[in-house]
Amino acid sequence: MTFKSHLDGSKHRFTPEVSMQIQHGIGADIIFAFDELTTLMNSRAYQEESLARTQRWAERCVIEHQRLTAARPDKPKQALYGVVQGAQHEDLRRKAARDLAALDFDGFGLGGAIEKENLGTICTWVNEELPVDKPRHLLGIGEPEDLFEGVEHGCDTFDCVTPSRVARSSRVYSPDGRFNLNVAASTRDFRPISDECDCYTCANYTRAYLRHLFKANEMLAATLCTIHNEHFFVSLVDAMRDSINAGQFAEFKTEYLGRYLAGA
Ligand SMILES: [Zn+2]
Repeated sequence: MTFKSHLDGSKHRFTPEVSMQIQHGIGADIIFAFDELTTLMNSRAYQEESLARTQRWAERCVIEHQRLTAARPDKPKQALYGVVQGAQHEDLRRKAARDLAALDFDGFGLGGAIEKENLGTICTWVNEELPVDKPRHLLGIGEPEDLFEGVEHGCDTFDCVTPSRVARSSRVYSPDGRFNLNVAASTRDFRPISDECDCYTCANYTRAYLRHLFKANEMLAATLCTIHNEHFFVSLVDAMRDSINAGQFAEFKTEYLGRYLAGA
């Protein structure tokens, strides 16, 4: 696949092999197979064609990953995950999951074009086909309600740019919803972002000071809010895990989202 750089217009060619070489080179703990991300606008025929391409690329990724791993036996273990595409078509999602499960992957990523209201259903289709003894990672999901949906329907891990992206525009998470710090009401608000949070930012800085940093265009503002937002999500997932272990996930979800969404 050939891409044009948004920086200088130069052309770059990526292949499954190049993708594996780059991810090995940067020392990624979890490497994702090279896949094609389609959109909801693509036709059914195109989704099928794309899925076949992603499967061929997945096979080449496994081969290249194994070659690179064997070439450097002293290196820490790097895991390779296949990426399940198929948009919102049940048969394509299930087939993609089965075909990838037949390859030697350490885990699986669930990605691609999904409307929010279909997230749980699609996770269920895919997770019913994937092996139970390998981790399932939901790609690019980053709001509390989506994490609950993913966990409830069998996903184990998550990643998303949202916590840091929204932090750069002064938006922060709390158990009572997400809010904007950079408003007049923060000027003399000497509370932390959340008095229920034990992150570095909440232990040391007030909303008033953080707002001052945003007003002064200090980079530190985004850094401190990112620390808080990342901590918020890790703590939330910790709490979900505890609730599962205690057999209380459904109750925890209802209670947590009831409060969070009422405040958001
Ligand atoms: Zn905090």
